[in-house]
Amino acid sequence: MDHFNYKDGQLHAEDVPLSRIAAEVGTPVYVYSAATLTRHFGLFRQALDWTDHLVCFAVKANSNLAVLKLMADQGAGMDVVSGGEYARAKAAGVPGERIVFSGVGKTVSEMRQAIEGGIRQFNIESEPEMRALSALAVSMGAEVPVAIRVNPDVDAKTHEKIATGKSENKFGIPIAKSRQVYAEAAALPGLKVVGIDVHIGSQLTDLDPYRAAYAKVADLTRALRADGHDITRLDLGGGLGIPYRRDNNAPPLPIEYGQVIRDAVGDLGCEIEIEPGRNIVGNAGVLLSSVIYVKEGEGRDFLIVDAAMNDLLRPAMYGAHHDIVPVREAALGAELRPFDVVGPVCESGDTFQKGTQLPSVAAGDLIAFRSAGAYGAVMASEYNSRPLVPEVLVSGDHFAVIRARPTFEEMLSRDTIPEWL
Ligand SMILES: *Cc1c(COP(=O)(O)O)cnc(C)c1O
Repeated sequence: MDHFNYKDGQLHAEDVPLSRIAAEVGTPVYVYSAATLTRHFGLFRQALDWTDHLVCFAVKANSNLAVLKLMADQGAGMDVVSGGEYARAKAAGVPGERIVFSGVGKTVSEMRQAIEGGIRQFNIESEPEMRALSALAVSMGAEVPVAIRVNPDVDAKTHEKIATGKSENKFGIPIAKSRQVYAEAAALPGLKVVGIDVHIGSQLTDLDPYRAAYAKVADLTRALRADGHDITRLDLGGGLGIPYRRDNNAPPLPIEYGQVIRDAVGDLGCEIEIEPGRNIVGNAGVLLSSVIYVKEGEGRDFLIVDAAMNDLLRPAMYGAHHDIVPVREAALGAELRPFDVVGPVCESGDTFQKGTQLPSVAAGDLIAFRSAGAYGAVMASEYNSRPLVPEVLVSGDHFAVIRARPTFEEMLSRDTIPEWL
């Protein structure tokens, strides 16, 4: 459930008509609902309320400081994958003890930054990384908590670009080899083994891959304990999917996911960490856009809108679908006709959707791309020198710009022409 609904014939974010935001901030613009974010975060907490747990929001899904602050105020931890994300989490007020550092290519300077600023745990993804972290920790006189990300060789049955739990993926250490790697970790100075980490992919719409992966984690926990390791934490990753199509079967609910966790690892007495991103923020955001032209083509009509692939990359990158809806509610029984909805960027890939059924639309009308809160603004670029898309947060009947649209001047000011030119 989200808080984007029609009231009085106008699509609203909570109690704010999207047309008001378009008039005051301009388009394209991302609009998030604070109530939806809070609600979704609460569902995960509730799903794990049977045990000690920490819900670590996956910062890469949406890293706006205001969104992170909202999450932090609810008690969220953060899962970060870069020094930049670590800095954002800290700037949003998250204490280091609630930040988990994931990612296959952490650099020594990123690891140093996190050790200095405080860290809950590093999720180690390879042996070279483990040795580098050990050497760094020793040089800093620190002992750092680590979990090792194991690759359970489970098919997450999701898009190939966001599946991470098969042995051919670059992520984690093969589970078959993990006891040996844990033995080395325990022997290395500067590291304190605290748990096991697993993350099998994103946009999972079925719980079976989780069941399979978590059963392997449970077995591994017992084996590692038998080997003498003190396994007290299980980081079970993120990845629970969201409905991108309104009329589709909904993916499982957080509460059902929590039950899968309980069934698989509930008897081990471990603190549970999860790292949801998309499921918390995906349906808490829309990308609001204006129609520039309605262009009649041969055999098809194009809706040329002012949002483009640089603002919302997922359709061009993954062939992803976002429901496109008119901001002015279609009259009951209004005739629909198909449009190819495209952006102005000079690439054929800048096509959001083909054959979208929409009521009659005219230049200047507003449309919204639904389910755009996750992996939307964070993937935006300035391609075609289109200023970075702004973001707005709505709460009740008020809203705030949480990232302003840069002026051309600001955009250009980042470049420098060398003196000798
Ligand atoms: C991307 C990622 C997540 C979040 O995935 P969602 O599908 O957004 O829930 C969590 N953990 C790790 C390690 C990730 O790489």
